[in-house]
Amino acid sequence: MAKVFVGIGSNLGDRADYIELARQTLARLPGTQLIAMSKMYDTEAQGPVPQDRFLNAVAQLETTLDPYDLLDALLAIETQAGRPAQRPKDQPRTLDLDILLYDNRVISSDELVVPHPLMHERWFVLKPLADVAPKTVHPLLQMTIADLLAYSEQAAGQ
Ligand code: ADP
Ligand code: MG
Repeated sequence: MAKVFVGIGSNLGDRADYIELARQTLARLPGTQLIAMSKMYDTEAQGPVPQDRFLNAVAQLETTLDPYDLLDALLAIETQAGRPAQRPKDQPRTLDLDILLYDNRVISSDELVVPHPLMHERWFVLKPLADVAPKTVHPLLQMTIADLLAYSEQAAGQ
């Protein structure tokens, strides 16, 4: 079984409903158990395109799915939540599901980059991740999630 953390975001439609849909659907994936769910955080949209605020959360899973099968399952859940197959970047989305960490694996391919390349600089990822996994160590940066969160909050305050 792999220990996986999935970042969940929504900024279109009933955001809390979409996050609840994600929670329930993740819990029912084959070979998968939902271990923990963070609190939800209302956050400002980041990136080049101004858009409505997000609701963000993180789910902790135990799964026998390999990283690519899990990615396929996440994309299918996004589609189920009404996210169009054509997926322009940086546009509002009903549901965004990203693999943040997959055990201590380091993966870098066209379809999948793990750890998620921006997770360590995003408060909206680190804050909910710290709810469920403050002592987990980022496999490339060798810092705990709690320390990465403190570091990013300090940097943002300057
Ligand atoms: P973003 O989440 O960056 O806003 P999308 O949700 O539109 O972008 O995802 C686009 C593609 O990102 C996915 O189809 C997937 O192949 C790729 N991707 C790369 N690494 C990851 C990851 N760790 N988790 C989820 N998707 C990823
Ligand atoms: Mg995504």
